[in-house]
Amino acid sequence: MEREHLIKPVLDHSYPTVQYGKGVFLYDEQGKAYLDASSGAVTAGIGHGVQEIIDAMMEQAGKVSFVYRSQFTSEPAEKLAKKLSDMAPGGDYWAFFVNSGSEATETAMKIAIQHWQEKGRFGKNMVISRRMSYHGITMGALSMSGHVLRRRRFIPLLEDYPVVAPPYCYRCPLQMTAPSCKLACADDLETAIKRIGAEHIAAFIAEPIVGAAGGAIVPPEGYYKKIKEILYRYEILFIADEVMTGIARTGTMFGMQHDGVEPDLMALGKGLSAGYTPMAATLVKDNVMAPILQGSKSIMAGHTYSANPQSAAVSLAVLGYVERHQLAEAAQSMGAYLLTKLREMAEGIEIIGDVRGKGLLLAIEFVRNRDDKAMFPPGEGITVRIIDKAFHKGLLVYPASGAVDGAGDAIIVAPPLVITEAEVDQLVQLLEEAIREVADELTRESAG
Ligand code: PMP
Repeated sequence: MEREHLIKPVLDHSYPTVQYGKGVFLYDEQGKAYLDASSGAVTAGIGHGVQEIIDAMMEQAGKVSFVYRSQFTSEPAEKLAKKLSDMAPGGDYWAFFVNSGSEATETAMKIAIQHWQEKGRFGKNMVISRRMSYHGITMGALSMSGHVLRRRRFIPLLEDYPVVAPPYCYRCPLQMTAPSCKLACADDLETAIKRIGAEHIAAFIAEPIVGAAGGAIVPPEGYYKKIKEILYRYEILFIADEVMTGIARTGTMFGMQHDGVEPDLMALGKGLSAGYTPMAATLVKDNVMAPILQGSKSIMAGHTYSANPQSAAVSLAVLGYVERHQLAEAAQSMGAYLLTKLREMAEGIEIIGDVRGKGLLLAIEFVRNRDDKAMFPPGEGITVRIIDKAFHKGLLVYPASGAVDGAGDAIIVAPPLVITEAEVDQLVQLLEEAIREVADELTRESAG
């Protein structure tokens, strides 16, 4: 055996080598097809191998791929910033480009803190987040994340930012039921603000629909309106982490549009380039930028590759594709079809506790007992077993948290937004086989 050099996610696991991708399918070097029911990590929103994106990439590469942002701007970067502002709720956003979702949320945090510094309010430098949240793997982004497994190893190095209750109705952390709870989980934010003091808090960050840390958790009606109202009252900025939900994934261009709320800052990634190139963005409302424009006139953030013309041209082409093919509408209608199919499937499978989500960001949560919602012990690795079983059948699904910090075992089902009805049927059939096989194994194991 030749020694390996590439660090892969699990070092003693062998991975097939991908050969090419087309539409919702990926093919390995043996020619085996995989239905990409998770768009990778909820990224390949427009599917694989789209020729017009490849053409846009080649065209820009033929002009110039890289310039340094303190020396040149470029037409694709300027156009992309304007396009995102035109698309975003309420408009009037500035855009700063980075290379990953983690950088986008961390940059949003830094701009929020700088906003208050420019106003002379130097004490406002904490960010509140929620339990069961994920905002990225870099230290600042991880400090704002309530994802126990990803934080654990680095806890001494992280900022000890406060976290509040997530709007997780299936297992309400406050043991209440919507709507009679009157959105008590949103009140938890106000309690935290009063305890800490608004003079110390720069921003609150949340995913419109929780992704990796819980699995397509949709908040109850009115939740974000109430959150925004609390934040406004205490002069705290609202950062919407749209890295997973942005760019049509949930049936609207941005997840926050379901609630009619305009965030002060937004983080985008994943679907922004649909995986064709590393690209992410921090969008900043005019009112947040205003004191910076009047003050230092520069933000203290950025990377060598920020706003490179190559990635900007690719993302512009992706956004054009999303709009022309009306993929937000497609996510809505195909998402409704997939949700119905998954719920029908769930009826006959006892280990499925909940099927939820919006648009084509859906999730299935597994339980040992449907009546009392008892979780499987984390050590049993139910999520991983189901994902592995599906993988062998040629179906890719994505893990949500996996029985930590109050979250149950769950998988995310989020195929490219271009998926057809026939492909949805194939997806559900393969997934049902995988889940049933694991359920049968569990029955046999518990029998002895
Ligand atoms: N925020 C959210 C909501 C995400 O889902 C992710 C990625 N799973 C990130 C931030 C981090 O993005 P990246 O992996 O590109 O750094």
